[in-house]
Amino acid sequence: MITAKTTLGEIPGMTARLVERLNAFELRTAGDVVRHFPMRHERKLAERSILETQNEVADEQAVIRIRGTVATVRVRRGRATMVEATLEDDSSSARLVWFNAGWMRDKIHPGDTGVAEGRAKVRNGFLELGNPRWIPDRVPGETMAQRAELPSVPSAPQNSSSDIARVNPPLLDVTHDQLRAIYPASEQLLSSEIESVVAKVLESVCATIEDPLPIEFRQERGLIALADAYRLYHQARDEDDVAAARKRLAFDELFLLQLGVMMRRAQLRSRTRALPLKLEPKINEHIRSRIPFVLTPEQDRVIGEIVADMGQPFAMNRLLQGDVGSGKTAVAVYSMLLAVAHGFQAALVAPTELLAEQHYAVLGAMLKGSQVRIAFITGSNTSAERRERVAGLATGKFDIAIGTHALLEGGVAFRNLAVAVIDEQHRFGVKQRAAIRQKGQGELPVVPHTLVMTATPIPRTLAITLYGDLDTSVLRGSPPGRTRIITRVVAPEKAPEVYSYLRTRLERGEQAYVVVPAVEESDLGLKDVANHLRYLQDGPWKGLKLAGLHGAMARDERDATMNAFRAGTVQALVATIVIEVGVDVSNASVMVVEHADRFGLAQLHQLRGRVGRGSTQSLCVFLGQSTTEDGKQRLEAIGNTDDGFVIAEIDLRIRGPGEVFGSRQSGLPPFQIANLATDGELLRVAREDAHAWIEKDPELSAPGVAALKHKLWITYGKALGLGDVG
Ligand code: ADP
Ligand code: MG
Repeated sequence: MITAKTTLGEIPGMTARLVERLNAFELRTAGDVVRHFPMRHERKLAERSILETQNEVADEQAVIRIRGTVATVRVRRGRATMVEATLEDDSSSARLVWFNAGWMRDKIHPGDTGVAEGRAKVRNGFLELGNPRWIPDRVPGETMAQRAELPSVPSAPQNSSSDIARVNPPLLDVTHDQLRAIYPASEQLLSSEIESVVAKVLESVCATIEDPLPIEFRQERGLIALADAYRLYHQARDEDDVAAARKRLAFDELFLLQLGVMMRRAQLRSRTRALPLKLEPKINEHIRSRIPFVLTPEQDRVIGEIVADMGQPFAMNRLLQGDVGSGKTAVAVYSMLLAVAHGFQAALVAPTELLAEQHYAVLGAMLKGSQVRIAFITGSNTSAERRERVAGLATGKFDIAIGTHALLEGGVAFRNLAVAVIDEQHRFGVKQRAAIRQKGQGELPVVPHTLVMTATPIPRTLAITLYGDLDTSVLRGSPPGRTRIITRVVAPEKAPEVYSYLRTRLERGEQAYVVVPAVEESDLGLKDVANHLRYLQDGPWKGLKLAGLHGAMARDERDATMNAFRAGTVQALVATIVIEVGVDVSNASVMVVEHADRFGLAQLHQLRGRVGRGSTQSLCVFLGQSTTEDGKQRLEAIGNTDDGFVIAEIDLRIRGPGEVFGSRQSGLPPFQIANLATDGELLRVAREDAHAWIEKDPELSAPGVAALKHKLWITYGKALGLGDVG
């Protein structure tokens, strides 16, 4: 009998050669094959020739589908780019036209074969499709995405695995399918070969699948049985099958993660005691007297939310979201000083040394002349410095710790840490949040209140997925006295003109950042700090005071450079993206980004946020011209909007949620089926369900959910730190 665990070699009728190729594709067991989902489904229409289709369409508008070989591709530039292709088969040829869609140019090439699908009419004797869907036969060279676990599969067959009435097996007769599953495949292993292996194992494996969701629960939400979802997703008869299967599979992914997130939230609440830090009027006055400006009403509102949390006997877990430049630091400082005022310690963790140094400088200036002692801890401390500072944190000699990842390492312990702030959280993962929470245990049997901040506004679907266990505050608007930044996207050939114009601004006392992608010269043909600095110094910016800055510099050298820039003695910094996060110099009002098409959209937005911090009208010039569709979209987006939330949505669309979500930083495995850009409603349902479920059964200990819990542990246990809450 074939079960999910049966290795492919044990399956009758499989050649050793095929097994080998499947193995090379990371498909080893029958379960692996069943979990290898199609990437799309294609209609197996009885396709008619172009001529037949044309005769049928006549002068009616109709949705049609034709197959052929691309003969020509033309790109017409006008006010909007138009891409025109001709598709030929033995009978005739048809015109495919995409209006205002320059990006299609990279998607279709002479000689490609494939299917065009869309609205058609006959014009000038030709069949013409306007903005059709183009499905090339080439399977993109995809690699296997990480795969989530299949629900635990008991060895005994279960007949409850399906609740759809059907004729007896074979469940689906492949030869009569209307839809064909197209699998992630390669030149060595074709989609059709995977399809045939699926046909061999699907039914046996599905018969053993135990459904983790009770039948009433499923029916209320219109979800089909899990085994049926596998069956239908692989062997769909029509779009309804695909939709039903997809809904169930996507729901399970979303629901599982939300269960994990909710469980974690519940664990944090029930198991973590914290110090209630009350805000007395006197303390409030004191703190405000240290902050060198009047807080905005928005900052006050957010501080109100934080102070309310910190007054509770359980730990705050709050995410502060605010676009770059919105003034988050002051909010963080306020919460840290509240702890210090009560005689406890506070910590601030930043993702880069440069940013940590800046925070250290800013806080140092605010607290000048006070009793408060700050320890600065980063990877570039000398061992003597580190020893002295680490010891001082443990004994309470220091009230505040500011640093990088180095602060999260084992060995750093606090006497009585009451508040921890993580700046630019999107640069960290879930694990770092857990790490700082562990640091509270010194002489206190409690965990610190935690505030995590992020300047990457993320779409709501992503926020509740990644930060679902946190309460959220949003800081809107920006501090007074800011001017809007003018953004220009400029072709690289125009660089000399750009630099010569900017020279006039630098001569008037403005300061500039010039960002290049590389630290050192390489054969990638990218500008690097040293050479670009020389170019500017010998050429367009001759006689101006320039300096280079990058992450590989020694700390004192970097400090000296940054200080000189802050003081205005350096007029322009040629830097790598070390300056991307957090750097705050208000007199810098000009930014140039070289090879802008090389940077991610969120990155471009962060970079731009380095200017526009003072009252001078700022200018940001992105030099770049992209040859890829994504690159073009990024440049277009950055040129069109400066709203971080809009940028975030576009970024999600361009990169795909898998990339954003499955990124190394998030520390979570990506979804296979669910799509955060389009499954917002399903996510909402899954989140509510997970919430209710955890309320009733916080540890998933009810009978019958062992399989679900097991799956949760395997998939997210480690990433979410379930079960090891400090
Ligand atoms: P971000 O949210 O990107 O971390 P910052 O906290 O660095 O933003 O703040 C951006 C700039 O605005 C800093 O120079 C900061 O000193 C200034 N700022 C913040 N709040 C105010 C305020 N209430 N009034 C005036 N300036 C402020
Ligand atoms: Mg900041």
